[in-house]
Amino acid sequence: MTPDLAQSVPNLISDKLVTLAADGSASLEGGRCKACAALSFPRAEVCTECLSLEVDGTALSSEGRLYSYSVVHQAPKGWKVPYALGYVDLPEGVRVLAHIDAPLQAIAIDQPVRLSLGVVATDASGADLSTYTFVPA
Ligand SMILES: [Zn+2]
Repeated sequence: MTPDLAQSVPNLISDKLVTLAADGSASLEGGRCKACAALSFPRAEVCTECLSLEVDGTALSSEGRLYSYSVVHQAPKGWKVPYALGYVDLPEGVRVLAHIDAPLQAIAIDQPVRLSLGVVATDASGADLSTYTFVPA
């Protein structure tokens, strides 16, 4: 049975970064250079390795390890603070900046994490805004 996407699709801050499958699962939309195969996230318009303009979209791994993180206490209106912002290293060599959605005391450098979606803020009307996050695996 196909889920009712109208009921389950989150209000994403940017739909260019995340691809949603029919089952509601998410994947990060990165870039792969057609000339040198360098990967990027977000998808680069110009390859940072060889300056090629031919960069295709590619789904990136949904699991990685937390390289480092910081706790944010000051944020624009509508953002829920405090929150952890971290760098996640994916196995293919891409480092992704993301919210780390977990109690702060449960976050540790080098821990395995997996991709998720989470509500991180509200817009001016009070509606939830979601984006990709990583949670402990
Ligand atoms: Zn390239």
